[in-house]
Amino acid sequence: MAASKQRRGILCVMSGPSGSGKTTLCRAFSDEDSSCSYAISCTTRPMREGEVNGKDYHFLTEEQFLVQVEQGDFLEHARVHGNLYGTLKSSVFEQVENSRDVLMDIDVQGAALIRESSDPGIQASLVDIFVMPPTVGELEARLGGRGTESEEVFALRMKNAQEEMDQAEKYAYTILSGTREEDLNRFRSIIDTERKKESRLGCV
Ligand code: 5GP
Repeated sequence: MAASKQRRGILCVMSGPSGSGKTTLCRAFSDEDSSCSYAISCTTRPMREGEVNGKDYHFLTEEQFLVQVEQGDFLEHARVHGNLYGTLKSSVFEQVENSRDVLMDIDVQGAALIRESSDPGIQASLVDIFVMPPTVGELEARLGGRGTESEEVFALRMKNAQEEMDQAEKYAYTILSGTREEDLNRFRSIIDTERKKESRLGCV
C-alpha cells in the first residue's frame, strides 16, 4: 500500500511594532481557520482592561516567570518594553507535530532566537512574517487610538518601533499593512502558499 503523506505544521512567527495590527491579524486568522492555533504567551506585563488571563496571555509575576525559565519551559523569551514575554514549548510542539499550524505573535528578539535555533524540526516548520505599518504617522495614530497605553509607555513603544522596523529585512515575508481585510488577505495568501510546499509533506 502506498504511504500517505501528512503535512508538517507551520510554525509562523509574526512580528511588528505595537499598533501594526499583528495581534488582530493573528487572532482573526486563527478564528477563521480550524487547522491553525494561536500560541498564548506568558508575560509579566500588567493586564489591560478587557484582557482575560489564559486567553490573551498567561499573566505571571516576574518570580513565576523566572521559575519557568529555570525549568526550561520556554521556546524563547525576551524582555520587551520593560516586561518579560515568552512562548511555552508546550503551546507549540504538539500542535506542529499533529499537522496543525501555530501562530506566534512575538517581538524581534524572540524571532531572532527562534531563527537561530539548531532544532531541525523548528527550521523545517518556520515561516517568519513582519507586519510593517504604512507610515510612522499611521502607527502613532493606531497606537494612540487604541488608548491602552499610558503616555510614558506610548513614548517607549514609539521609540522602540524604529529599531523593530529596522529588523524587517531578516523576515522571509513583509506584510505592508493596509486595512484589516487587506492584511488578512495578504496573510491568507502567504499561509496558502506555504502549506503547498513539497518540503512540508512527509510520509507517514
Ligand atoms: P503587548 O504588550 O502589546 O501585548 O506586546 C508587546 C510586544 O511583546 C509585542 O511586540 C509582542 O509581539 C511581543 N510578545 C508577545 N508575546 C511574546 C512572546 O511570547 N515572546 C516574545 N519574545 N515577544 C512577545
